[in-house]
Amino acid sequence: MTAKSAAAAARATVYGYPRQGQHRELKKAIEGYWKGRVSADALRQTAADLRRSHWQQLADAGIHEVPSGDFSYYDHVLDTSVMVGAVPERHRAAVGADALDGYFAMARGTQDVAPLEMTKWFDTNYHYLVPELGPDTVFTADSGKQVAELQEAVALGHAARPVLVGPVTYLLLAKPAPGVAADFEPLTLLDRLLPVYAEILADLRAAGAEWVQLDEPALVQDRTPAELNAAARAYRELGSATDRPKLLVASYFGRLGDALPVLAKAPVEGLAVDFTESGAANLRDLAAAGGLPGKRLVAGVVNGRNVWINDYGKSLSTLGTLLGLADHVDVSASCSLLHVPLDATAERDIDPQIARWLAFARQKTEEIAVLARGLARGTGSIAAELAANRADLASRAGSALTHDPAVRARTAAVTDADGRRSQPYAERTAAQRAHLGLPLLPTTTIGSFPQTTELRTARADLRAGRIDTAGYEERIKDEIREVLSFQEKAGIDVLVHGEPERNDMVQYFAEQLTGYLATQHGWVQSYGTRYVRPPVLAGDISRPEPMTVRWTRYAQSLTERPVKGMLTGPVTMLAWSFVRDDQPLGDTARQVALALRDEVNDLETAGTSVIQVDEPALRETLPLRAAKHTAYLDWATEAFRLTTSGVRPDTQIHTHMCYAEFGDIVQAIDALDADVISLEAARSHMQVARELAGHGYPREAGPGVYDIHSPRVPSAEEAASLLRKGLEAIPAERLWVNPDCGLKTRGWPETRASLENLVAAAREIRAEL
Ligand code: GLN
Ligand code: ZN
Repeated sequence: MTAKSAAAAARATVYGYPRQGQHRELKKAIEGYWKGRVSADALRQTAADLRRSHWQQLADAGIHEVPSGDFSYYDHVLDTSVMVGAVPERHRAAVGADALDGYFAMARGTQDVAPLEMTKWFDTNYHYLVPELGPDTVFTADSGKQVAELQEAVALGHAARPVLVGPVTYLLLAKPAPGVAADFEPLTLLDRLLPVYAEILADLRAAGAEWVQLDEPALVQDRTPAELNAAARAYRELGSATDRPKLLVASYFGRLGDALPVLAKAPVEGLAVDFTESGAANLRDLAAAGGLPGKRLVAGVVNGRNVWINDYGKSLSTLGTLLGLADHVDVSASCSLLHVPLDATAERDIDPQIARWLAFARQKTEEIAVLARGLARGTGSIAAELAANRADLASRAGSALTHDPAVRARTAAVTDADGRRSQPYAERTAAQRAHLGLPLLPTTTIGSFPQTTELRTARADLRAGRIDTAGYEERIKDEIREVLSFQEKAGIDVLVHGEPERNDMVQYFAEQLTGYLATQHGWVQSYGTRYVRPPVLAGDISRPEPMTVRWTRYAQSLTERPVKGMLTGPVTMLAWSFVRDDQPLGDTARQVALALRDEVNDLETAGTSVIQVDEPALRETLPLRAAKHTAYLDWATEAFRLTTSGVRPDTQIHTHMCYAEFGDIVQAIDALDADVISLEAARSHMQVARELAGHGYPREAGPGVYDIHSPRVPSAEEAASLLRKGLEAIPAERLWVNPDCGLKTRGWPETRASLENLVAAAREIRAEL
């Protein structure tokens, strides 16, 4: 086919769409079903209505080929486990009794049975349920959901393309089932899994699918030659079947690298490639591999996981280049639109000028359709859209919001010295000990105390105007007094104010920083029925006034003991927001860091001797490819140090991270130059402490002795035995005693009992030392 006819046939498509509905109808229906208020039939009806309306939205926007099977009641990886019959032994009975209830049991567990583990979907904030596999796993094909949803779309008159998690990615995301050797590699099950996929593909073909999409995002990660061979074998085998639909293998979230030639050579009809993240590299690699002769290329030119409008000129130029490299070029988003909110036009509080820079899922489908039209019929056919796009891009580039001269001048003037504390850790620690007068094994908490219904109601009342600011602040002060008095009575050494005023650890700061936008309806699925509203880093960041000083100072006025100031760190602020795409991440991080630095310094001036800067996202933001780790960790650690280095040597900087596996970034954690770190450790029996010691980590550390993810109260003996384990790895002079994470999701009764036991354990061990 010539480039010209490839262009003429260009079609618009997407890989997936937000599932929840404009008013989060799906969340409400599912949660209603769990509570017994919504029947299974009513839930199914809501789901079908949402699918119908989403397909219609896509078709109306000009999307030619819509996805099917991307819908999920909870998670598409869990759906895949069901599709291939990989139901863990412990869930078989529930699934056998009722498929829907069994499905939710796998997702959420029941009184007696633990759920599947949940973890992050690549480097997004979406969480999937981890398949549990072992040498005895028997796969069986269940194409029911996929076939039914395809037929539903077709009956509604749509050209639909079923979307499945590909077999290689599925296995690479799996883990050994409980009781299976930890070194078992699920990928060894590939030969068993492929016939099941072949059967499902045949079913979909029989149900009328012309194309089926197999998602293989795992191929944009570093893969061993054996894994690449497995991918080659998988697609050789699936491609060799005769009764199958055309296969589109989809990659996203970055550069295919060595996997590109593997897929290019595979006997499949199409390939989807990300031209946003590492787009230039994918383009180069594709040209170097000789293109995709005879294949369909779906070009992900619209960023599917960020909220900015597309640059049509740039996308059309990429698409133009691609025309010479494939038999047929279609236009899409870089990944499923699951990762962005539904509709930017629902945001009424955002300045209309700025709202024009934003594209959520709905707007992205329109962009994709425009680009496909421009590609097929020439730019003349989209002249008006191109002009409007240029004007919006120019408005963004020239805006005072994105270019604040004061912020620019300040970031440009940053020196190495700004990111270095005035004394090394070894000297500071003595000064801090003298200044704070803490006992051995000091006790503390991670920041938040229970976010009670009363607190949430007070916030809702304030928003609705039922109470005024003064009334609300009285409520917050009452809460702070209660939290302080409990901690004093319980005998905790370093106190916190409890964060009652914070709706969320990122949003609270985003709302107070200039350049940050909060959305009203920008919900994005985090997992299951949990949705979050990430704020948008839209412009240059500055802090018009102190954000936390007032509450911390109030708390400190109530007690003689040190009250710890509590901030969210710059890396986490970026990780849990939509970030700017018009400057390097490191530049945005530096701006946020400088704003937070002012807050840290102001806290110190107000008499705060201990300041915690939380960075729970430091590790999850690690790029997918190892080659990019150093550059990331460089800007991330710089941002943390800029935030925290402006204080006196005797002011103690804490950081907190809520994960137990961090072996690969211990050096970076050390480079943060924090004085004290708290980490999750209770479930892993202090594994973290041994790892820190193993890496020669020289600083103070508080491996958690209280698992806050469950309402269970740990006994004092249990906490003491964890502390003894901790002491085997970390000397008493450097060991802190604290829970795994904040207590905001816990109730007061278990919080009280658990913290009292934690203090009792610390006292018992101190007496033994
Ligand atoms: N300071 C925060 C809290 O206690 C930390 C939360 C977190 O680590 N995710 O709630
Ligand atoms: Zn945490």
